[in-house]
Amino acid sequence: MERRYDVVIVGAGVAGSTAAYLLSKMGFSVALIDAKPNHRAGDKPCGDAIGKHHFEEVGIDPPRGEELDGIVKGIMLYSPSEEVVLTIEGEGYEINRVRFTQRLIRDSIDNGADYYDETNASAPIIEEGFVRGVVASRKGDKLVFRSNVVIDASGSARSIVRRLPQDWPIVDPIRPEDTQIAYREIRVLDEWIDKPEYIRIYVNLKIAPGGYWWNFPKSIVRTVNVGLGVQGGKGYEHPRVYLYKYILTRPEFRNSKLVESSGALVPTRRPPYTMVWNGIMVIGDAGYTVNPVHGGGKGSGMLSAKAAAIAYSKAAEADDFSAEGLWIMNKLYIDYYGAKQASLDIFRIFLQRLTDEDIEYGLRKRIMRESDLYETSVTGVIKNKRGIFDKLSRVIAGLGRPSLLSKLILAAEYMDRMKKLYEEYPETPEKLGEWIARLNSIYSSFEKALAT
Ligand SMILES: Cc1cc2nc3c(=O)[nH]c(=O)nc-3n(C[C@H](O)[C@H](O)[C@H](O)COP(=O)(O)OP(=O)(O)OC[C@H]3O[C@@H](n4cnc5c(N)ncnc54)[C@H](O)[C@@H]3O)c2cc1C
Repeated sequence: MERRYDVVIVGAGVAGSTAAYLLSKMGFSVALIDAKPNHRAGDKPCGDAIGKHHFEEVGIDPPRGEELDGIVKGIMLYSPSEEVVLTIEGEGYEINRVRFTQRLIRDSIDNGADYYDETNASAPIIEEGFVRGVVASRKGDKLVFRSNVVIDASGSARSIVRRLPQDWPIVDPIRPEDTQIAYREIRVLDEWIDKPEYIRIYVNLKIAPGGYWWNFPKSIVRTVNVGLGVQGGKGYEHPRVYLYKYILTRPEFRNSKLVESSGALVPTRRPPYTMVWNGIMVIGDAGYTVNPVHGGGKGSGMLSAKAAAIAYSKAAEADDFSAEGLWIMNKLYIDYYGAKQASLDIFRIFLQRLTDEDIEYGLRKRIMRESDLYETSVTGVIKNKRGIFDKLSRVIAGLGRPSLLSKLILAAEYMDRMKKLYEEYPETPEKLGEWIARLNSIYSSFEKALAT
């Protein structure tokens, strides 16, 4: 039997559920499909930290009551030796991702959306160069969903997008080295932690090669989310090995009790060349909408859902669901987050070339102050280049590590170039090829400049 909707959303994680909520609120008919049973909707390995500002930006009520596991007042960033700790103030939450996502699903159903749990979307329906729906299975039954647009929100599985013709620019596969393999455990500590409203990030390449490890206290339910990410494609061991070898052996975790454990892949890169094509949009982890530096993807995934919902409503007005009709989604996402994400990707590439000694030095000498780090993470721009230049001249005069500082300045310049390129994102799909060539040339010249 065929079912017909305005939009079919594959994946009821935070991104897909946000899109379902926003689109159903606009009055569109929506099918929200997820392979998981209802009680596990939203259950995905995560550090569960999210900035308060994201809810305001998306226009969704922040977590409340049982959706909230903890209040966050800031981040404590530890140097490799742990002798230097930078405290960056900023409001946020440790959310209960299952309860929060299930609220979005409930509200979508109240708005008229149909929710299909335990339903696995196996393939897109492609006709005359357009995605026209998906084929799915539910408890042995074949279901056919037809729609104007399919939104792939299937997380890093990219269940629909990866089955599209490979020459569609929305496919844009990710290289393993542009991912993190992340793993975390929820634990009850024997002795509760000081300052539970501050989440902790530890940079130490021996413990978390190409990534970092974290300890995020959940101040309300009094557990901690402890985990790490390691860079993909480099042959490192699974992060669980590092967790048990270096982290859980620390005194603060002695006699701690395991509540839950799991891991997943995190895309840590720029957004895809395009997030839309004929009859298809991609959001959340499936659309790589993750901060490349810290790996947070919930807030930006919700922002991509907002961009998709607005773009769909405009395409519906014009009755044009082609790449061109949906194109505005790229512009919206770039404006909300994508330009910053791409420039932070340059910063990520720079950071992943550093040694523990470089990082220790940088944090100890306050090459970037707490306020600069915060500003960079919010805007994707290193503003205080003057301060870094001043430090560089002093360092060249006697202190050492000039190459670190000159590479930081190089990264800052390329971040600006990247941001500018995204601000010049093409108005229509025809110019995309030319823009991709400029994008690739920024990456390759940055890589070359870093290597010299
Ligand atoms: C260990 C770890 C720690 C993290 N820490 C943080 C953090 O502290 N803060 C933060 O903001 N982000 C964090 N992230 C990233 C964040 O979890 C993700 O960016 C975010 O959850 C992605 O949401 P999503 O909706 O795009 O995808 P998902 O939550 O992965 O949802 C995808 C959904 O699609 C469904 N699906 C997949 N294929 C199919 C199919 N074929 N048919 C039907 N359904 C399908 C899945 O069942 C799933 O429910 C972390 C990630 C990891 C792995």
